[in-house]
Amino acid sequence: MVTSSLLEPEDRVLSTLEKDGSRRWLNPRLSSGAFLTKRRAFAYFLIVAFTLTPYIRFQGKPLILLDILHRKFILFGFTFLPTDTILLALSLVMVLVGIFLLTALFGRVWCGWACPQTVYMEFVYRPIERLFEGTRGRGGKQRKPVAGWRKAARYAVFLLVSMYLAHTFLAYFVGVESLARWVTSSPFDHPIAFVVMAATTGLMMFDFGFFREQTCIIACPYGRLQSALLDRLSLIVSYDTTRGEPRGKARKSSDGEDKAGDCVDCNLCVDTCPTGIDIREGLQMECIGCAQCVDACAPVMAKLGRDAGLIRYSTQAAMDGEQVGLLRPRVVIYPLIMLVLMTAVIVLLSVKKSADVTLLRNFGSPFTLMDGGHVSNSMRVKITNRREAAAAYLIEPVGGVVTRIEMAENPLKIAPGESRTEGVLIVVPRSAFTAGICNITLHISDGSGFQQDIPCRLLGPSGSAAASTPGPKQPPAGIIGQRGGE
Ligand code: SF4
Ligand code: SF4
Repeated sequence: MVTSSLLEPEDRVLSTLEKDGSRRWLNPRLSSGAFLTKRRAFAYFLIVAFTLTPYIRFQGKPLILLDILHRKFILFGFTFLPTDTILLALSLVMVLVGIFLLTALFGRVWCGWACPQTVYMEFVYRPIERLFEGTRGRGGKQRKPVAGWRKAARYAVFLLVSMYLAHTFLAYFVGVESLARWVTSSPFDHPIAFVVMAATTGLMMFDFGFFREQTCIIACPYGRLQSALLDRLSLIVSYDTTRGEPRGKARKSSDGEDKAGDCVDCNLCVDTCPTGIDIREGLQMECIGCAQCVDACAPVMAKLGRDAGLIRYSTQAAMDGEQVGLLRPRVVIYPLIMLVLMTAVIVLLSVKKSADVTLLRNFGSPFTLMDGGHVSNSMRVKITNRREAAAAYLIEPVGGVVTRIEMAENPLKIAPGESRTEGVLIVVPRSAFTAGICNITLHISDGSGFQQDIPCRLLGPSGSAAASTPGPKQPPAGIIGQRGGE
């Protein structure tokens, strides 16, 4: 039989796990100080910005709308539609490289100062928890057990805050108009939306009420990437080992000699850490760079009359006494990549037209011989109206080759931001084909400035005795003419 001691790890595996594998609940002690004051002010600013952003309109559109259902993304006045995959991909890569740059320069400053997980956990949920259940005592004492009603009240307030958060979060995906409609009508009128809302609230409760700091430690991939993105010149929260060690409560050692270390091993930096680590063990993946340990240690040093900064924002190189500048290849290469990407995005945006048009060949027979010596090709035209107003697109042949084009509706009316695909039958005289090919051009216009010519290759009989469906080499059905996204 395997005993538990055999399974027990030599050291702590995760800061949120006890050695026996049970959850180690963290109740970090709040340490007031310069960094906490700044972080708190910034966090409140972010909370207000996060709440108000869905209501802000820019150029008649929401400032940010991530409409996944209709595959439409609006960012700062520009609308990304499914035809903008390249633009969206370039923008996302630019954001990613920006994060690389930010991390190379300032470590996990995003995690500690701006990530919604940290902002809401540390400046909304934990303060509520402290309000109902008290703060952690000095010297690492756990909170005293609290009355049941206090716990119930805490979870009731958590639920209210989670509902507010879920509504705010969803406003980014459905818009404030839909949200207002849902909130003011019965759930039976919009059951799916109600379930999504309830599930999002449940997720918030799970995250902030139960999973908490484990999101940063286990679930977030950014923490894992940290070791690849940081270098010795990145700004991190560090403990000055040279100054601090050997640590101990007594200033004099047992043989009467002065202790060299400034760290008095009060453990305040550990008690205050929201991810439960000891910064004195060096840079760890769990460190979110929040500087709570800096604020915890500063008054201890002040009280003892020792220099501030035993724990401080610094770089690994500076801590090791290296005199090096902050310039290195990655902080030059990342901005250069961002510049190239930004130029590409700006160029693509500047040549974009108000509609995307794609001409596709229909499936089935490439052409049909008609009475009167005519040949027809069956196509589909897909038009995306990028305007903020409805538009009607007229499709006409250019030149005199085409006998007629047949559509169920022409001009094609399309609502703002919507796409429509309609069948187009193009009829040309058989004599227009050379070696089974006839090149024509279609002109699409909306009467409000949008105009576009689309070249189109029609297929037909290659000889005078051709049958109705054979013809020249038959390309697969698919796109045959395209001028989208310009
Ligand atoms: S708060 Fe400062 S003095 Fe206290 S244990 Fe941490 S590093 Fe040492
Ligand atoms: S070690 Fe310090 S900076 Fe890092 S997470 Fe803990 S308290 Fe924040």
